[in-house]
Amino acid sequence: MSISEGAVLHGGCLCGDVRYVMQGPSLFISQCCCKDCQKATGTGHTTIIGIHKDQLTVEGKPATYTNYGDTGGSVTRHFCGNCAGRLYTSGDAPGDHIMIQAGSLDDPAQIAPESVIYVKDSLAWDKFDPALPQFEALPPRDL
Ligand SMILES: [Zn+2]
Ligand SMILES: [Zn+2]
Repeated sequence: MSISEGAVLHGGCLCGDVRYVMQGPSLFISQCCCKDCQKATGTGHTTIIGIHKDQLTVEGKPATYTNYGDTGGSVTRHFCGNCAGRLYTSGDAPGDHIMIQAGSLDDPAQIAPESVIYVKDSLAWDKFDPALPQFEALPPRDL
């Protein structure tokens, strides 16, 4: 269930210090099972909504942490410095995209993942919908 053109969704962290507004359309919505997402969230996967960075407006100042993904590009995770709630990820590849953490939406039930990525790192106890397209690592660039 993607986000349509013209849709406006609100979200923020647990304590409310950082709030954001994102506009549709979504470029992709994926469940990412990579090991970095497991470590960053303390869960089996994260669900991300890809948008262009000009579709996001942030109020408040998130803290950030940058490391490097398996393709060598930087990955910067934005989160609340007070409550540690994860908000979105930006990075080099490609640099004009933002990946919103779907669970930070005020109403995460508005979306649903359309694909599963980094299946090679997925955990047996973290189930996903077998009907979704699956990719061993990143999907082809145009997805
Ligand atoms: Zn917070
Ligand atoms: Zn990941």
